[in-house]
This record gives sequence, structure tokens and C-alpha cells, in this order.
Amino acid sequence: MEFFKDKHVLVTGAAGFVGSHLVDALLGFGAKVTGVDNLITGSRANIGHLRDNENFTFIEADVSEKPDGYLPKEVKLDLVLHFASPASPPRYQENPVETYLVNSQGTHNLLQFLKDNMPDTRFLFASTSEIYGDPIEHPQKEDYWGNVNPNGIRSCYDEAKRMGETICGVHERDFGMDVRIVRIFNTYGPRMDMSDGRIIPNLISQARENQPLTIYGDGSQTRSFCYVSDLVRGILLMASKPNLSGETINLGNPIEELTILQTAESIKKVLGKPELQLEFKELPCDDPTRRKPDITKAQLLLGWEPEVGFVEGVGRVI
Ligand code: NAD
Ligand code: UDP
Repeated sequence: MEFFKDKHVLVTGAAGFVGSHLVDALLGFGAKVTGVDNLITGSRANIGHLRDNENFTFIEADVSEKPDGYLPKEVKLDLVLHFASPASPPRYQENPVETYLVNSQGTHNLLQFLKDNMPDTRFLFASTSEIYGDPIEHPQKEDYWGNVNPNGIRSCYDEAKRMGETICGVHERDFGMDVRIVRIFNTYGPRMDMSDGRIIPNLISQARENQPLTIYGDGSQTRSFCYVSDLVRGILLMASKPNLSGETINLGNPIEELTILQTAESIKKVLGKPELQLEFKELPCDDPTRRKPDITKAQLLLGWEPEVGFVEGVGRVI
């Protein structure tokens, strides 16, 4: 992607799962990258291989704070990818205040900083399929407003992402800035924190240790699983194409909509361990019953389609 050559890109959440893959791809396309992370759920190990890369600078800071406090005075940015936020339900529920702040106040502070200092800088916000809540429409199109509990255990995350989208909309409409939103559906791949409690790390870790696979509820709920390289390609297309300001786009893999029981069976198969037992546990409150992206818009605007199937992707993680 020629667009990124010699561009200066700020990636928040750079030491996280998705953020670190974005940084690698951007550097590969010739960009200069500044990564910011406070390591609340990320890890220095995810960016350790970039220690001697002269095109990468890492700043340890909290992006809920004002950027004047952590960015060098002379900084000139072409693009900001705002990916900082805990993302796993156990992790965001352990850090509810930090989660709602980074998605609301953090988004506000970044956009206000750009408005005041470099209003032509493009901004892309990592939103989520969680903004659709427990969706009544299936699959979910971008014009669906969702079915969200505003004061449930997931709301520190999903309502904060909705607020983040609101803040993006205000800066795009009212202040004429180039602001874009991607709504990311369940994504997995190497560098996921294997202890963060999400379904794929949990099942893979349990299977490797010959432990029973934990299924919450009866396992009939669905998720659509996207491999990280497909996601990163979609994000970078969304960030680089002209004339997409104000657009919101779903990124996820609709072909790989699996029930949680099918997910467990698939992981057993890939690991060659059909004998593993299932352990049923209580379904967490407000757990969405099904989730699948309609990606027509991404196909039309970006020419994007996911390419990596679930079995292949899980094999790569293992
Ligand atoms: P992750 O937890 O691996 O990465 C998030 C990173 O943000 C971590 O390195 C964390 O330390 C950092 N961070 C959090 N709060 C911060 C703050 N205040 N200041 C600086 N850094 C902070 O999660 P991920 O899966 O890589 O998710 C990345 C982004 O993508 C998040 O915004 C998440 O909401 C979004 N997303 C991810 C998925 C997915 O399936 N992976 C799905 C939907 C949305
Ligand atoms: N889940 C499960 N067993 C686990 C972890 C998660 O059955 O060990 C379920 C969880 O209840 C949800 C789905 O798997 O229905 C996906 O959970 P995850 O935390 O990965 O992401 P979510 O899509 O809920 O944010």
C-alpha cells in the first residue's frame, strides 16, 4: 500500500494484539510509526522485535490523558489509529473506568489535539461489533443501531465505544475533520494474550494442557471469527483510501460464524484431541446470542474480503 510510504502514523494500543500487527504492517509499507501504550493489557514482548527499528518510536503513556503531555512538541502526524482499549470481557470488566475513559475521554483528547494542532490529520477509531449489543437484526449491517444494555456489566466497553463513535461523528461533521470508524468483529491470531479469557485463547490453552474446554451457557451462541492478517488488511485499506471520511465499516468474517460448541469441536480437531471433554459453566450476563457481520459495504468501498479460514487460522496460532 503505497499510501503509507513516509507517512507518520500514531498507533495507540501499539503493544496490544491488533495494534502490534498494525505497527508491523505499517513499517513494512514504509511508514514511520509512533506507538503509544500504557501496557494495561498489552505487552512489551509484542513490540520487542522493533527495539532497533529506527522508524519506530515507543512511548509508554496513558492516551486517556491529553496528548500534549506525552507527544513531542514538534510532532507532525499524517494519520492516527486509535486502538488503545482493553478488549476482552474479563479484562474490561476488571478495568471498567480505564475502559470507558480511553474510549470516550481518550478519543475526545486525541481529536481535540488534532483539531487544534493539525486538523488535516486523518483519524481512524477502532470500534466494535459490541456496539450492536445482543443484536435483534442478523447479520448486522452498519445502519443497525443495536440492542445494548446501557448499565450492564459490558456497558463500560460497549457504551464507551458508542460514545467514541459519537465523538468521532462530531469532529467529522462539526469540525470538518477526516474521521473514519471500523467496527471489528471477533478477531484472533498470534500475540493474543493467552490468559485474557477470550474464547480462542481459553480453548487453545485448555486443549494444550489436556484440560476440559469451558463452554459458557449451552454453547449455542455464535461468533464470527476473523484472522488478524485479514483484519489488518481491512483496517489499512480503510485508513488509506481517499474520500471515506465519515464512513463506518464492519470488518469481520461472516463465513466463519460458528456456535461456541462448533468452535470447541474445531479446536479439538486442529489439535488432534477428539477425546477432550467439555465443561459447561454459567453464561455471563448480557452475553450476545449471535453475531455476524454484513460486509457488503467493506466489499464495495474497500474491495475487501477475509481470506483465512478458521481451521487454517487456528493452526497458525498453534
Ligand atoms: P489488546 O488488549 O491486546 O490491546 C489493546 C492495547 O491498548 C493494549 O496494549 C493496552 O495496554 C492498550 N491500552 C489500553 N488502554 C490504554 C490507555 N489508556 N493508554 C494507552 N494504551 C492503552 O486488545 P486488542 O484485541 O488488540 O484490541 C485492540 C483494539 O481493537 C481495541 O480498541 C478493541 O476494542 C478493538 N477490537 C478488538 C477486537 C478483537 O477481536 N480483537 C474486536 C473488536 C474491537
Ligand atoms: N466463552 C466460552 N468459554 C470461554 C470463553 C468464552 O464459552 O472459555 C463464550 C462467551 O460466553 C461468548 C463467546 O464465547 O459467548 C465469545 O467470548 P469472548 O470473550 O471471546 O468474546 P465476546 O464476543 O463475548 O466479546
